[in-house]
Amino acid sequence: MAVLDQLTSPEAMDLENKYGAHNYHPLPVVLCKGEGVYVWDVEGKKYYDFLSAYSAVNQGHCHPKIVGAMVNQAQTLTLTSRAFYNDILGKYEKFATEFFGFDKLLPMNTGAEAVETALKICRKWAYEVKGIDENEAEIIVCNNNFHGRTTTIISFSNDSVARKNFGPFTKGFIKIEYDNIAALEDVLKNNPNVAGFMVEPIQGEAGVFVPSEGYLAKANALCKQYNVLFIADEVQTGIARTGRLLATCGNCSCVDKNCSGTPEVKPDVLILGKALSGGAYPVSAVLANDSIMKVIQPGNHGSTFGGNPIAAAVAIAALEVVKEEGLAENAYKLGELFRSELNKYIETTDLVNLVRGKGLLNAILINDDEDSDTAWNICLRLRDNGLLAKPTHGNIIRFAPPLVMNE
Ligand SMILES: *Cc1c(COP(=O)(O)O)cnc(C)c1O
Repeated sequence: MAVLDQLTSPEAMDLENKYGAHNYHPLPVVLCKGEGVYVWDVEGKKYYDFLSAYSAVNQGHCHPKIVGAMVNQAQTLTLTSRAFYNDILGKYEKFATEFFGFDKLLPMNTGAEAVETALKICRKWAYEVKGIDENEAEIIVCNNNFHGRTTTIISFSNDSVARKNFGPFTKGFIKIEYDNIAALEDVLKNNPNVAGFMVEPIQGEAGVFVPSEGYLAKANALCKQYNVLFIADEVQTGIARTGRLLATCGNCSCVDKNCSGTPEVKPDVLILGKALSGGAYPVSAVLANDSIMKVIQPGNHGSTFGGNPIAAAVAIAALEVVKEEGLAENAYKLGELFRSELNKYIETTDLVNLVRGKGLLNAILINDDEDSDTAWNICLRLRDNGLLAKPTHGNIIRFAPPLVMNE
């Protein structure tokens, strides 16, 4: 077999199994091409992509504007490191901070790195601005969170598979129940060393748990009251996925215009990744205002690739596509349709218990227990019928197509 020969599906899967670490359990389908809402396998079968690379490909596969920006920049200048200035990072930072309404942006590559960055900013702010004694800062997080895979991040996960035998873990985190305001207030009231509260506006990996109406606003108000940073991890929920530019926008009017309305919640620290590049390139970012971001000084933090010229060019294009194509509005509209049609189906079947979500971040709950393989088997049948989705937990299937989907 020559290296560049077209592989069959079994050949490609065998190669990954034999030469790759087994850190994922993919659905058995081997993709070789993508365009818009579609992907194709190596045998030429066409599928709807209802995962969108965990909501990274919101703008659709191989969006010509995003790929064009990437190719153009790749042929001009790819990487300088931050040892020198380059002529596009500043343009991107101006564009993105205006787009989301913050003073400053700190560029990173992956979601986990951006989460780590936010935690470091929060801790430094705690010592240098809030005045907490050194090494005493605590950050509140929620049960069943998913914020990535680094050692610190899994330290406050309660996914036993993600944690087992990776200790010792990082200290300084307090876990509370998600969507429970009383639990948050209780910790804030009794612990003067709390520096921040980090939360997913909708818990994606946990199975698309949408908190009660008003939860985020109340949590944010409590954070203000106790001088604690409200840190929104919008790596999965951001960039139009939930029918608004950001899930924290709530019913803000920013759907199809530049955001001039009052968002339901304006986080102190906003974490973005995934669709910030439209899935073309690893691009993540932390946004905050000067009063917080000023704690980061030269030498405190960095990344060789963070803010590289390709990332900057790709992210500008990816965000422009979101506005130009009205993706938040489309996600809102199609989400309503998706849930109403699914609800009609649910009335006719014992297989599915409920559908939940916002915009085009939705999940169905299969009528079987967590350890059953029913959801997996349904995903195999969906695949055979030309639609790709994957269970999040044993009995939950997420449906998150690219936002360029139509009715
Ligand atoms: C995917 C995800 C991350 C981690 O992003 P990576 O790019 O995989 O490191 C962090 N937070 C949330 C909410 C996510 O969905």
